[in-house]
Amino acid sequence: MTYPNTQLFIDGQWQDPAEGRSLPVFNPATGQEIGRVAHATKVDLDKALAAAQKGFETWRDMTAAERSKIMRKAAGFMRERAEAIGRLITQEQGKPLVEAKGEALAAADIIEWFAEEGFRVYGRIVPSRHNIAIRQMVLKDPVGPVAAFTPWNFPINQVVRKVGAALAAGCSMLVKAPEETPAGPAALIQAFADAGIPPGVLGLVYGNPAEISSYLIPHPTIRKITFTGSTPVGKQLAAMAGQHMKRVTMELGGHAPVIVCEDADIALAVKSAGAAKFRNAGQVCISPTRFLVHESVRDEFAQALAQHAQGLKVGDGLAEGTQMGPLANPRRLTAMAEFTQDAVERGAKVLAGGERIGKDGNFWQPTILQDVPLEARIFNDEPFGPLAAIRSFSRLEDAIAESNRLPYGLAGYAFTRSLKNADLLSRRVEVGMLWINMPALPSAEMPFGGVKDSGYGSEGGPEALEAYLNARAVSVMNV
Ligand code: NAD
Repeated sequence: MTYPNTQLFIDGQWQDPAEGRSLPVFNPATGQEIGRVAHATKVDLDKALAAAQKGFETWRDMTAAERSKIMRKAAGFMRERAEAIGRLITQEQGKPLVEAKGEALAAADIIEWFAEEGFRVYGRIVPSRHNIAIRQMVLKDPVGPVAAFTPWNFPINQVVRKVGAALAAGCSMLVKAPEETPAGPAALIQAFADAGIPPGVLGLVYGNPAEISSYLIPHPTIRKITFTGSTPVGKQLAAMAGQHMKRVTMELGGHAPVIVCEDADIALAVKSAGAAKFRNAGQVCISPTRFLVHESVRDEFAQALAQHAQGLKVGDGLAEGTQMGPLANPRRLTAMAEFTQDAVERGAKVLAGGERIGKDGNFWQPTILQDVPLEARIFNDEPFGPLAAIRSFSRLEDAIAESNRLPYGLAGYAFTRSLKNADLLSRRVEVGMLWINMPALPSAEMPFGGVKDSGYGSEGGPEALEAYLNARAVSVMNV
């Protein structure tokens, strides 16, 4: 399948941008330009904003059943088209086809779950303390048109979590999707268009991220902002939203600890954390990074993880059997080289990988670093790539303290056979999501989000819908 050029989706129509500008899209496995993406400017954004307002007024006044029907139809298209959409994602983002196809299938599950949850946007009747004739109602209203900003690591998944919740709540949404991976998000929006979503309910634009966000966030049409991306950008956007009193959901960076206790099932820990580490070449906000391993099992664990890393088949995501693709862009290659060099200069040992693979494409070896000093950059900044850094501990309290040392608080992992340890970890590790004795398994029905510098708000479960609803108090005196 050839890779398409991507246009803007405004007021129910695919269209070229007013100024006719476009940006190149590259295949990270080859470095070759594979297509172009439209670059929106203010004229396009004004059209998209007017459409989002009109779309909101239409969608808000439809029943949950009508919305659900369209959403379920869109989910069906995602499922039917998963193979073809997967190929687009692999070409633009690099991940193995099986992961890319899985992303399209997961999108269908997410849309369906939110389509159902939309039926459960309940209000309340509250007895009056003053007069039996007063009927007090708590009504839930959609917040209004939403601006969403999404990153390139999961071109569809990052959009669908926002779109699913917003649509179920009755909001319209204008998405600024990533310029580096535009065809995946466009395929998602196409599924909704084919399902009959009214014009303006969903819009899709690309362009200069800072220009677009600084125009949309203050704009009076936009009532809520949702962003997924790095912590520094999230802080800038949240500050701007604060200035304009806009509601915000922020899903930002992480630096997940993995605590391997002395009583852990080591084979399970290696299999689960190894799979989680190298999925999408580590370009995942919940990717495990700081491996804190009890000193009694440190060597056994580290060697097994190194063996796992060395056994992975790295290559073009479209090739049969590829387990890890290239990094999504050359910026990540530079970052991997810097993180590795810094750790080694500070005394870490390279147990596996540590080098770029070849000269074409952004391939980096799955890398395991052992005895990494606390001051090393990798133990402090999010690597967002296939690097695992191991340190040992002797007391569980110290591993918990290390887990909580950084300002991040997104995901965490632990392996232990002790109920007491599991209970302590589930109470003390400061993260939004903790997986014990298992790989990460996010789903639409569970909250997804972080604490501390990893952001606020949730992109899963009923909490995700709440983020797109206002509570309004209406009292009626029955005279
Ligand atoms: P970046 O910080 O420049 O961009 C991250 C994302 O934010 C991109 O999608 C980008 O388009 C968007 N962005 C940047 N500035 C923006 C602005 N002013 N307004 C609106 N959107 C803006 O970095 P990058 O090189 O693209 O990615 C690297 C870092 O981003 C990683 O190290 C990781 O920490 C973070 N990241 C996180 C996630 C996640 O799932 N939380 C996804 C992708 C990237």
